[in-house]
Amino acid sequence: MEQTYSAAHSRYERMEYTRCGESGLLLPRISLGFWHNFGESDDDLMGQRMVFSAFDQGITYFDLANNYGPPPGSAEERFGNILHNHLRGYRDEMLIATKAGHAMWSGPYGDWGSRKSLIASIDQSLRRLRLEYVDIFYSHRYDPQTPLEETMMALADIVTKGKALYVGLSKYPADKLKEAVVLLRREHVPVVVHQVRYSMFVREPEMELLELHQSLGLGTISFSPLAGGLLSGKYLSGIPIHSRAAGNSPFLTPETVMSRMQQIKALNEVALSRGQTLSQMAIAWQLYDNRVSSVLCGASSPEQIQENIGALSNIQFSSSELTRISEILK
Ligand code: NDP
Repeated sequence: MEQTYSAAHSRYERMEYTRCGESGLLLPRISLGFWHNFGESDDDLMGQRMVFSAFDQGITYFDLANNYGPPPGSAEERFGNILHNHLRGYRDEMLIATKAGHAMWSGPYGDWGSRKSLIASIDQSLRRLRLEYVDIFYSHRYDPQTPLEETMMALADIVTKGKALYVGLSKYPADKLKEAVVLLRREHVPVVVHQVRYSMFVREPEMELLELHQSLGLGTISFSPLAGGLLSGKYLSGIPIHSRAAGNSPFLTPETVMSRMQQIKALNEVALSRGQTLSQMAIAWQLYDNRVSSVLCGASSPEQIQENIGALSNIQFSSSELTRISEILK
């Protein structure tokens, strides 16, 4: 008989949950995504341990996309298997999200935001995830070549058909975000969240988007909050062999690590003085701003997840800490 996973009874004790914009949906303040470390060649058992560890510590939101892997689709497949084999009994305690809009399959229909692409993609994702519906389905990026109305009506139909409960948008420019939300709300589609890249090193959302989300009643999910690991203790003494920067990621190169080293070290000093690790402080710094609904982290081990959740123990900052951090980030 198959061994069944039994979730920790204490799983909701450490996590905090906050309303996603003006919707009824509650998000954990820290979430887990599977962009990296969840592809076909990654360790099965490690993947399983990360999911269990996250869920055991109150992470209820799991973020995927059709193209996560490599190869594209393999992260959904892996997560689908873990869910099916071990977590089926907990489906109603979990928020599972996926996206479409980046290059996924060959030919003219496997990318961007046409109706043809989105409708095919959600069906593929549901098959890989072995689910009847996802909780949030995202348009992964704005498509300047497709009429916005076409993309939004495809999302509306996906919700109407019961394949997604809520709609999310990701990386939309502010003007298109506003238009998209109007179109969706006109059709009574529950659009609840916008995903943006945001961290101590990537501050653009502070210029307009964080305020805009509030005025539109959307939640904010900030992705890559550790700048892919730069804002952790990982690179303090060089580039470890098993790290994103040592791989081929165009988003985190050894050059970027070296150019940020002075700031990383100075931020680490501030973190230590607060009794936190650097990754904990980087996450806490976002959670201090309650316009951020959930900080969407990645991880390569359950220990990293455990450490990052420790950020919740101190999300307050004194004015002198904030000043020092601003000086470092100048
Ligand atoms: P992070 O900035 O959190 O980076 C995660 C990486 O940081 C890990 O893989 C690990 O690197 C390192 N790390 C995490 N915790 C620790 C720790 N405690 N100590 C040391 N190192 C640590 O986020 P990601 O860039 O991975 O993005 C998170 C999620 O956001 C994605 O999985 C995806 O779901 C979503 N996303 C959405 C996008 C969109 O377009 N909407 C785009 C990008 C991401 P290592 O692997 O080297 O150990």
